[in-house]
Amino acid sequence: KELLANRVKTLTPSATLAITAKAKELKAQGIDVIGLGAGEPDFNTPKNILDAAAKSMYDGHTKYTPAGGLPALKQAIIEKLARDNNLEYKPNEILVGVGAKHVLYTLFQVILNEGDEVIIPIPYWVSYPEQVKLAGGVPVYVESTSEQNYKITASQLREAITDKTKAVIINSPSNPSGMVYTREELAQLAAVAVEKDIIIVSDEIYEKLLYNGLEHFSIAQLSEEVKSRTIVINGVAKSHSMTGWRIGYAAGNAQIINSMADLASHSTSNPTTTSQYATIEAYNGSQDSVEEMRKAFETRLETIYPKLNAIPGFRVVKPQGAFYFLPDVAKAAEKTGYGSVDEFATALLTEANVAVVPGSGFGVPTTVRLSYATSLELLEEAVRRIDHFVKSKW
Ligand code: PLP
Repeated sequence: KELLANRVKTLTPSATLAITAKAKELKAQGIDVIGLGAGEPDFNTPKNILDAAAKSMYDGHTKYTPAGGLPALKQAIIEKLARDNNLEYKPNEILVGVGAKHVLYTLFQVILNEGDEVIIPIPYWVSYPEQVKLAGGVPVYVESTSEQNYKITASQLREAITDKTKAVIINSPSNPSGMVYTREELAQLAAVAVEKDIIIVSDEIYEKLLYNGLEHFSIAQLSEEVKSRTIVINGVAKSHSMTGWRIGYAAGNAQIINSMADLASHSTSNPTTTSQYATIEAYNGSQDSVEEMRKAFETRLETIYPKLNAIPGFRVVKPQGAFYFLPDVAKAAEKTGYGSVDEFATALLTEANVAVVPGSGFGVPTTVRLSYATSLELLEEAVRRIDHFVKSKW
């Protein structure tokens, strides 16, 4: 008998985690590797949040909570969505889960039937296609090129929709491209979603990491009609440097949210109680540290972008948000004698000792992704190494 179920046979392990593991292996051998693979802020969780978490434990809040989250946390999230996004929700329209990743997983489990299609713009975050497939769905990719700033158009969306289309995923600001859809672009995409009666999954996890004066706009803000078919996904991992606490949430249709809570009641029981209390403070307390971290990312972006773009054979669309660069390095790979960008990325790790993630994991095999969630000193050194590597082999 076969050991494993069919559903896991096509599962692709996360490309991001693979490169991180390889970099760690080299580091363990004493090699000075600079890791630019990370998808998490390099700052500590702000102290007021740590204090609130500790206090909650000593106050005795160490037991199960409702599956969909503590009422007080749902209230804090409702107030956040009203304050930051001008969106109104009721408690039965909010689900708190074990990180935005697991919230998305649960969402696809409750909305997809076998064979239902979900439109995923390329470049995409690695987990979307796998989660859709695990729910029996079929990922339908819509490609956006660097010429269109890695954003799909409404007509591309329309062309990809079939009778089986259940949802489209919009991730703005985007991981891995750092691009942000304008209000007008979102309006055009939303009009197609309304006309074709599909769900909009809006992953806004990088909302707080926007640069050079850009302000976040949620697609759900467009109208009641759009909001009613949108599930907003967000969390505190990137905004409050709380990746390890594992708290994310969904806001939207009460029937969907209710089913997600039912599913959670049989899988996670509830997100970790201490983390929920920490998140109440993250939203109700001072937001100063969020802005401080954003500013640090902006300084890195502004310092590193021109240097990265000046490396021969690198072409970088300047990111507007998140903390990644996605340079097209096809020419650099070719001129330095590598058959593919994947091989070029491997050589960057083993020869230049800089770990980057090959873009093939995001559907854009001519690119690599570099995270700037690391110190400016290390970023400068990494760019020097890559520049030297490319020039010496050109
Ligand atoms: N969505 C995107 C686009 C992400 O990049 C990430 C984290 O890498 C997540 C969701 C998941 O965030 P969380 O840590 O809350 O699960």
